[in-house]
Amino acid sequence: MSLGQSVTSNSSVARVLYFGLQPALLLAVIGLWLSQPTNPALYVGCILAVQLVLGVLEHLYPARTEWRIKGKQKSGSVVLVLILFMVSGSVGDLYTQVLSPPLEALRESLGTNVWPHHWPLLGQMFALFFLNELLWYWVHRAEHQWYAVWRVSGHGAHHAFQKLGALNFGLNHPLEYFFLLLPGALLELTFGIGAATRVASLLLITQASIAHCNVATNSRLIGWIFTTNQYHICHHSLDLAESNTNFGCAAIVWDRVFGTFSDNRAVAVGSGPKEPSTWHKLMMPIREYEVSDIAPGSGP
Ligand SMILES: [Zn+2]
Repeated sequence: MSLGQSVTSNSSVARVLYFGLQPALLLAVIGLWLSQPTNPALYVGCILAVQLVLGVLEHLYPARTEWRIKGKQKSGSVVLVLILFMVSGSVGDLYTQVLSPPLEALRESLGTNVWPHHWPLLGQMFALFFLNELLWYWVHRAEHQWYAVWRVSGHGAHHAFQKLGALNFGLNHPLEYFFLLLPGALLELTFGIGAATRVASLLLITQASIAHCNVATNSRLIGWIFTTNQYHICHHSLDLAESNTNFGCAAIVWDRVFGTFSDNRAVAVGSGPKEPSTWHKLMMPIREYEVSDIAPGSGP
């Protein structure tokens, strides 16, 4: 059986996961949300459930056994993600405070009917998802293009991990949350989107979690539109040319449009010969950790 990644289990369960995991998770999350769109607990509940499902599957059916993360390290990552989740909430609040007045004024001048509020929630969700990913594509590409942006965003911290798993979706430098949340804040506050914002955000987080997960999944059909873990792991490659591809963390379609798509399979991930400690990752905007193989300008 050739599943494209070093699958360690030939079981029929692994085969079902290979074809069904990503579409099943996306359908389950969207379906759950649409059944109770006004339930505020569902947002956090869905994120936790996705992480739990992927965490268990990574343990039972890892695509790369060498990426299996042991208990203590996993607990540390969970605590870090929880702290960073709170950081992201504060950054979102700050953006709302600072950007609301000018962007609401802009919305007034554009007219109130620019966003298609009359569309079904599902249609609005996909429109926002792909618009958000279009903006993020260029922000992310800028991080890899210009060294100053790479440094100030601390994007090197996200790339420094030499083992990937679903939790890596949120393991970014605290400063990078200003970059990660900017596209959504600009869209929400400019267009006054409302109800579709939460479900689009849920879709983005679910997709980003799947894109980092260490379970072998299929890229054939779903990979025309959505980022798969094969494509995103290629972006995390230790090889500079491979890391300068697949900038869409949730939607791969913009890489296909703008010519940065790659279906290569990364051999090794990270940013250099050794993974920095959490402290060194935190210090990255101030000083780069030793030599980075993938920072802008690292090529021959
Ligand atoms: Zn990147």
